[in-house]
Amino acid sequence: FHYPMPANEPVLSYAPGSPERATLKKVLAELKKKQVDVPMYIGGRAVRTGNKVELNPPHEKAHVLGYFHMGEQKHVTQAIEAALKAKEAWANMPWEDRAHIFLKAADLIATKYRPYMNGTTMLGQSKNAYQAEIDSACELIDFLRYNVHYLSEIYKQQPASAPGVHNRTEWRPLEGFVLAVTPFNFTAIAGNLPTSAAMCGNVVVWKPADTQVYAAQMFMRIMKEAGLPDGVINLIYVDGQVLGDTCLSHPDFAGIHFTGSTKVFNNIWQTIGANLPVYKSYPRIVGETGGKDFVLVHKSADVDATVVALARGAFEYQGQKCSAASRAYIPGNIAEEVKRKLVAMVQTMKMGSVEDFSNFINAVIDERSFDKIKGYIEKVKKDKKATILTGGNCSKKEGYFVEPTIIETKDPKSLTMCEEIFGPVLTIYVYNADNFEGAMNLVDTTSPYALTGSIIAQDREAITLATSRLRNAAGNFYVNDKPTGAVVGQQPFGGARASGTNDKAGSMLNIYRWLSARTIKETF
Ligand code: GLU
Repeated sequence: FHYPMPANEPVLSYAPGSPERATLKKVLAELKKKQVDVPMYIGGRAVRTGNKVELNPPHEKAHVLGYFHMGEQKHVTQAIEAALKAKEAWANMPWEDRAHIFLKAADLIATKYRPYMNGTTMLGQSKNAYQAEIDSACELIDFLRYNVHYLSEIYKQQPASAPGVHNRTEWRPLEGFVLAVTPFNFTAIAGNLPTSAAMCGNVVVWKPADTQVYAAQMFMRIMKEAGLPDGVINLIYVDGQVLGDTCLSHPDFAGIHFTGSTKVFNNIWQTIGANLPVYKSYPRIVGETGGKDFVLVHKSADVDATVVALARGAFEYQGQKCSAASRAYIPGNIAEEVKRKLVAMVQTMKMGSVEDFSNFINAVIDERSFDKIKGYIEKVKKDKKATILTGGNCSKKEGYFVEPTIIETKDPKSLTMCEEIFGPVLTIYVYNADNFEGAMNLVDTTSPYALTGSIIAQDREAITLATSRLRNAAGNFYVNDKPTGAVVGQQPFGGARASGTNDKAGSMLNIYRWLSARTIKETF
């Protein structure tokens, strides 16, 4: 069975009067009216502990969407046991049967559950309709289809043989279970991390972020409807420390597929190192972590293109993409015009609930995040070298709202130029237009991260120079575009340096990590 290169799932517009808009509005109303009671799924069983945690929209925190049942240490153990029990049958299931489950899930989202995936993502994670559509519909569908394609390409790869010798490669799953730890900011990533490992024949323990459970459980239900056997993916909600203590000290721990903070990933890696003698095999460690993504503007840049790249790159989904533009280097010759047009554009961005489709900005994910972002803004207000060009107000009365905020600093190594804020905050540094070399040097040395970045220029030499000089500064490098919005199959996504292991989500490189090849030589 070979699955050819698919096409990307088309993005629906949700324009006024469109049928998809009417359906989505109906589903949003339906979701808001009922309260869900969300279990964990261990060995295919729905597990309710009674330790209920409220699910609230970040933009309307008084509203209760339902509850999820928080687990404890014994549920982690049960999830591992259920996974290991399912392992043999799953690993030995014919590949075409396994593949069909993921392809069916993609089709179910595309045709039947799209408004539900988008609706739960919008309400649970405070994403507007467009941001949800490109995430919980299109990107998630693409991950499922493209990964099936990549895996079928890998399965085709066989070694040479010789007279009297027949060689073959058996693309086995890893021995043990894989742990998937997924973030709040992309439903597609939450879906991709467990499924990419599972489709290779692995069994998975999956822990989503507490703030993403509403859409995560929706996806799990779709996987079950698509025919995923019990125990192949076990969805649990537990404290991260409890999860780590149990999974990372288990002899059958075979690997981790992680997206989250650099700090947590470092802790995980160190724990794995300390536990090495316990494991049966060296675990695979795959992680995408933080970013401090740049937009470098050259003096030849088109001003309007610069403004759009900055506005969209920094503020879509409230800047809560690992890839979000958060530091910009603007040359003096066009700085005043860029700032004026950018501020004007950002001031037209309406902020509010996801249910009003004219809102561009919604809430940030939770109180902790709100307080952290506000803390950075407060510090800037006291900093004599920085000015707030627009925004800066925060309110957590109804929900966690932070205005899109642009800071101009005279210190290119100031706090908000260096640290990941994970919110709608962009810091600008204006450089001498004739010192492009100096600006490139700042881009390369200011942050430990290397996830995404953009060069905006019309001058070909500047593009060529920046592309080569900044080769280690970003795993995803964009020329004349915003640094966000990688499309599966088109821009495999991942960063280097402190941004992760760069195993490119949605690529063959990533799929290889979940396979353990056996070479078989037969002579005759
Ligand atoms: N793939 C997303 C993008 O290109 C970012 C993923 C992330 O935030 O982890 O914008």
